[in-house]
Amino acid sequence: MAPEKGAHRIVFLGPPGSGKGTQARLLMSQFGLEHISTGAMLRSEIESGTPLGLQAQGYIENGQLAPDQLVRTLAEKALKTHDCQQFILDGYPRTVQQAIWLCEFMDSRSITISAAVNFIIDREEVVARLSQRRINYRTGENFHLSDKPPPQDQSEYIITRKDDQPDAIRKRLNIYHERTHPLVDYYSDKKLLVPVDAKASFTEVNEQICNLLKLE
Ligand code: AMP
Repeated sequence: MAPEKGAHRIVFLGPPGSGKGTQARLLMSQFGLEHISTGAMLRSEIESGTPLGLQAQGYIENGQLAPDQLVRTLAEKALKTHDCQQFILDGYPRTVQQAIWLCEFMDSRSITISAAVNFIIDREEVVARLSQRRINYRTGENFHLSDKPPPQDQSEYIITRKDDQPDAIRKRLNIYHERTHPLVDYYSDKKLLVPVDAKASFTEVNEQICNLLKLE
C-alpha cells in the first residue's frame, strides 16, 4: 500500500513553554486535527490514580522524562484510537529512541510523519513564560498570568503545574537540550523539519504554521 499523500501527521518539537500545546489546540479547532499530548494523557492518568499514572507521577513532578515504555503505551493507544488519521503529536517523541519507534510504527501502517514543526525560542523567554503559566486541570487549557489571565469563573480549577516550579523548570530545560533537541537533526535529515519563530505572538505563530504547512 502506498503512503497516503497530503495527510497532516505532524510532530511538534520545542522546549517546554514554547507554545506547542496552545498551537495544537488552535489547529485542532481550526482544522479538526487530533491533538495527541502525551503530557496531558499522563496528567489524566495521575489524576485518575491508575497504575500507569502512579508509576509516572514521580518522574513528571520532578521534571524528568517518564519511562519510554509507559509513554509509548499511551502514544500507541491514542494513535490507534484515532486510526492514525490526521494529528498533531505534542510532546512525543521526546527522545531519538521514541522517534525510531514512531517511525517503525508508522511504517508498519504504510503512513508517514508529514512534518516536524520546531518551535524556536530562547531559554530566558521560556523560563519567564513557565513561571507565569497556570493550567485548568479539568480542561487542560493553559493561561498566562499577565498575557492571558485565567477567567474568574474557572478559578477553582486553576493550578500551577508541579513541574512549573523553578527547580523542575531548570531540570526540564536541561533534559530538553540533552535528550530532545537531537530530534532537530533527526527530522532535518529526513527533510521534515519546519522551523517557526515561537517568540512571536500566538496568532503570528499560528499564521507561520498554517503558511508553512499549507493548512487551509
Ligand atoms: P508536557 O505536558 O508535554 O510538558 O509533558 C509533561 C511531562 O510529561 C514531561 O515533563 C515528562 O515528564 C512527561 N512526558 C510527556 N511526554 C513524554 C515523552 N514523550 N517521554 C517521556 N516523558 C514525557
